[in-house]
Amino acid sequence: MSLSIRTVSKSYANGVKALQNISLTIPPGMYGLLGPNGAGKSTLMRTLATLQDPDEGTIHFGDIDVLKQKERVQQTLGYLPQEFGLHPKARAEELLNYFAVLKGIREKKARREVVEALLRQTNLWDVRNQKLGGFSGGMRQRFGVAVAMLGNPKLIIVDEPTAGLDPAERLRFLNLLSEMGENSVVILSTHIVEDVSELCTRMAVINKGQILLEAEPQQAIEDLRGKVWRRVIERKELPELERAHHIISTKLLGGRTVVHIFSEASPGSDFESITPDLEDVYFTVIAQDFRKNLVQETKEVLV
Ligand code: ADP
Repeated sequence: MSLSIRTVSKSYANGVKALQNISLTIPPGMYGLLGPNGAGKSTLMRTLATLQDPDEGTIHFGDIDVLKQKERVQQTLGYLPQEFGLHPKARAEELLNYFAVLKGIREKKARREVVEALLRQTNLWDVRNQKLGGFSGGMRQRFGVAVAMLGNPKLIIVDEPTAGLDPAERLRFLNLLSEMGENSVVILSTHIVEDVSELCTRMAVINKGQILLEAEPQQAIEDLRGKVWRRVIERKELPELERAHHIISTKLLGGRTVVHIFSEASPGSDFESITPDLEDVYFTVIAQDFRKNLVQETKEVLV
């Protein structure tokens, strides 16, 4: 069952165009929605989770009309929002059991089995009687996954789940997600490129409410091959380089500035060709969008 998003737009009352004519087809498996803060990711996630309506467009999940048949969506939806409150005094097993009741798992024995299985899968069984107030960020997120997975959802939406996790927790969390979502559509929204490169079979890059790229990560990297060049410079050389080249990214490395630029042909003997990675893909499309907007804004000022 795949998710089909067609020409979805959303503006807020303050005039922000959070989603502009978004169309995406998302097949089963892990799908990465990658974009900077303010790109529109949460707006899209909330819309898919039936928590808010777009101004325009349609969304279908298999034969379910997502915008019109919200109860049907909710029956098959697992949603892990960016922020969620958990009662600090509640204990993990107790609260998961409570959510299972809300999800409609009424039969006591079946519910106990589901709760135990999820606590074991999320590696929280040993702390099932501890209060949630004492959980680390990673434990909280794993508990969030256990809640989201109740009732075997076929559409799983996780909004910026790795923000605030340390590297080990992040890895554990991502592995858990990929195991649990094997047969479902799993949409992972994130601003962290590694989240997508490590896990997702497909991805989209979103910026300022628009989809800039829709691709398989490995294919997008392949398409950039031979076009990314690297040079180590002094910081003061940067403005001149910016005028002459399409800079993808600049990074500080051991006190020096490492610049990646995009160029179809060699930009000069002082640059070395490098094997691109997904970060280069991401920063290339964001930089191209920035230049497009700059040209557009300059035109508007000149008119
Ligand atoms: P992301 O999740 O990628 O950070 P959001 O969807 O939260 O992006 O936000 C997209 C844009 O919409 C931002 O400019 C944000 O400030 C704006 N926005 C989000 N929610 C609201 C709201 N309820 N009212 C007004 N503007 C909003």
